[in-house]
Amino acid sequence: MDTILVVNAGSSSVKFQIFSVEGEGNLQRRIKGQIDGIGSRPRLRANGQNGDPMADRAYPIEAVADVPAAMSVAGAWLRDELNINPIAVGHRVVHGGPDYANPVLIDHGVVGRLERYVSLAPLHQPHNLAPIRTILNNFPTLPQVACFDTAFHRDHDALADYYAIPHQLHAEGIRRYGFHGLSYEYIAKRLSQVASNVAGGRVIVAHLGSGASMCAIKNGKSVESTMGFTALDGLAMGTRAGQLDPGVVLYLIAEKGMSVSKVQDFLYRDCGLKGLSGVSNDMRELQTSGDPRAAFAVDYFVYRVGLHAGMLVAALQGLDAFVFTAGIGENSATIRARIAERLTWLGVTLDASANAANASKISGADSRVPVFVIPTDEELMIAQHTLTLLMNPKTQNQKRERVS
Ligand code: AMP
Repeated sequence: MDTILVVNAGSSSVKFQIFSVEGEGNLQRRIKGQIDGIGSRPRLRANGQNGDPMADRAYPIEAVADVPAAMSVAGAWLRDELNINPIAVGHRVVHGGPDYANPVLIDHGVVGRLERYVSLAPLHQPHNLAPIRTILNNFPTLPQVACFDTAFHRDHDALADYYAIPHQLHAEGIRRYGFHGLSYEYIAKRLSQVASNVAGGRVIVAHLGSGASMCAIKNGKSVESTMGFTALDGLAMGTRAGQLDPGVVLYLIAEKGMSVSKVQDFLYRDCGLKGLSGVSNDMRELQTSGDPRAAFAVDYFVYRVGLHAGMLVAALQGLDAFVFTAGIGENSATIRARIAERLTWLGVTLDASANAANASKISGADSRVPVFVIPTDEELMIAQHTLTLLMNPKTQNQKRERVS
């Protein structure tokens, strides 16, 4: 059985999935696993396609001290115990910079170019690249594909891509990239199956998870995003403030004496819902907390989603559909209802029972704009891109050149 391994590596966890390649290029998810607690309490957990447990084991801290070690442990488990030898590996890579508008077959040159973007995504990019290097060194002929969170947004009009700074800085790469692109790409494809009548129109997708952003999609293509140069911009998130006057950063440095790395840590880890509430970065916990600051953080989140929706409607010059996705968007009927209330001015109404049931279409019969809940699947998107690239005749030639 031909299989594709999909890897999504973060700072303290490596998530992986195995897809089998069926007839006519169809992909079937077979295994979903992760190693978390890297460097603290490493644990490998994996489930089969029906959710049946396949592994749950703890490792001593020195056995899985970092991401490359976690990749080696996961690889050995797949290879030695399950006899799975993937034909290719697809990786989620947060930042493709201005260079990459599409997934790319990885070699040492590509890794070198992607290293340049570490400073643009300091909490994600180094960890995304670590398993790529491990595999490149240990299995140099195994094809690896990098799929970028920025790629789906690379066709933006210059007006959406520029900051109002001198052109030279834009040329150096200081521009609005947008993120969560693999999720948006998947949703755009899915929407054409779920609601083909609106998929070609003007759509806002709200990816509301621990990281959160919104994307304006026109005719299946991204035209605007709430995120910009880094994944710090836009909506308030679990631990990121979202849109912030750059003057605040200057103040933190000049008046609070914070170093660059302190500010960076602060902006990525201590703000957003966590910073506002002082209780948690987790929406579920905030919703059940009796602390008024938790309630304020939830109110703030909802308010900002409404505010940014207005901005995206302006970019689209109208709205034909609204889609909720990711952890909060897929699961919290309460947050969806509260956001929908803020979109009443656009003619949005919800069907309360469809919303409570997390149905696929949750708008009321009288809603001027249909509203959908579509679970995202970034891993499937990565597996599809990997297979597509693998089947490309140009890739076949590159593979042959590498082997010879
Ligand atoms: P993600 O990053 O997409 O996994 O989303 C994580 C976020 O989704 C966390 O803030 C969770 O609290 C939130 N979440 C997941 N399920 C629910 C739920 N049923 N109600 C509210 N928030 C949820």
